[in-house]
Amino acid sequence: MDSKLSRRDVLQKSAALGLFAVVGTACSKEQKALSCTDTMSLSSADALVRTTLSYADKSPEAGKSCSVCQQFIPAAPAACGTCKVLKGPINPAGYCKSFAPKAT
Ligand code: SF4
Repeated sequence: MDSKLSRRDVLQKSAALGLFAVVGTACSKEQKALSCTDTMSLSSADALVRTTLSYADKSPEAGKSCSVCQQFIPAAPAACGTCKVLKGPINPAGYCKSFAPKAT
């Protein structure tokens, strides 16, 4: 068996690797973490409430996140929801000082 690679083989394998890299990059971008920190449309008072209640886009406390808070209003999967207390986009993985667990 001839173990030498022809020029054609090298070009075909290079093209396949290039395609794999492009597809891999596109897939990794889809898995980018959700960000719900855009408060540009809020009034300064509403933005201040977010700050005062220490809203965080990622909860620092295990088991306490917006997705399990009774104030959270979910949106489509993998999208920012809203909150009955804070205005603006709310990350299901977020948290603030007004966290109140959903009744079970
Ligand atoms: S009250 Fe706080 S913890 Fe609860 S959903 Fe709203 S932002 Fe999240």
